[in-house]
Amino acid sequence: MKKIGFIGLGIMGLPMVKNLLKAGHEVVAFDIVAANIEAAVAAGAKGAGSSKEVAAECPLIITMLPNGPEVKEAVLGAGGVLEAAAQGTILVDMSSIAPEVAKEVATACAAKGIKMLDAPVSGGEPKAIEGTLSIMVGGEQQAFDQVYDILMCMGASCVLCGEIGAGNTVKLANQIIVALNIAAVSEAFALSTKAGVDPAKVFAAIRGGLAGSTVMEAKVPMITAGNFKPGFKIDLHIKDLQNALDTGASTAAPLPFTEKAIEILRDLSTKGLGQNDHSAIAKYYENLAGVEIRG
Ligand code: NAD
Repeated sequence: MKKIGFIGLGIMGLPMVKNLLKAGHEVVAFDIVAANIEAAVAAGAKGAGSSKEVAAECPLIITMLPNGPEVKEAVLGAGGVLEAAAQGTILVDMSSIAPEVAKEVATACAAKGIKMLDAPVSGGEPKAIEGTLSIMVGGEQQAFDQVYDILMCMGASCVLCGEIGAGNTVKLANQIIVALNIAAVSEAFALSTKAGVDPAKVFAAIRGGLAGSTVMEAKVPMITAGNFKPGFKIDLHIKDLQNALDTGASTAAPLPFTEKAIEILRDLSTKGLGQNDHSAIAKYYENLAGVEIRG
């Protein structure tokens, strides 16, 4: 049993905390939203009043926050982790943030004798609940080995991809593939629906072939039910694709389809759908084609 600090108790963080508790670990939890701390306490965690308070108690701290600015605030900011973390503490940031920001936070941590891994995840809320996330990690082998068993309480796989920042670089690749896959599925289903074929039949006919995908399995049932409850919010996917475009610009890697995907997501966000699941990309195509993909 280890005492683990956990900061960020949202859609992903809370079920991840529950899996750590289920595995017999002690968790000290903090979120800026009091109700989220209460939910973690109800699940068996100990609540804390700040990130600093979490750090004062725990030799291992996990963060699961929206983006880089929130990670910087929780770790480097006033009342943050670095104000109280002891030398030798390991910080595992499981948020999806820009690789450059992960490196920046890790450098500030290293100056205080704290090791950091960036360890974003894929799999979404269902796999966070199941404890079967795919975890992609950047950082030093030794720190990775020290936390591997704990990360595997929340994941089905956990791969060290390279140095600090590599976890988030891989996550950007993941997010490009997911966004373009949802767009491809939406475009194809809008076409086949408009041309008069029941979307349920399209799904049944092609899910087992080469076009089938984890995205298709997860998102087509949501689209055909008109259920766009998140899951993974459109505004968070915009954040990830912007981080991908920034990384593409700094590495001279062109991302033409990602440019189009972010335009679609931004259009939906402007129309007030930013808090919908990213499967609502289908709504963009539904509007264009004047059809609803339901069945
Ligand atoms: P969320 O918005 O549901 O949760 C984020 C939590 O962080 C909120 O409870 C918020 O109150 C808290 N928070 C914000 N700033 C804080 C601060 N300074 N200190 C303490 N708490 C703070 O988001 P989520 O869906 O749980 O996503 C978390 C991260 O995981 C994001 O980077 C996201 O891109 C990534 N992710 C999400 C999914 C998904 O399907 N939801 C899947 C894979 C990865």
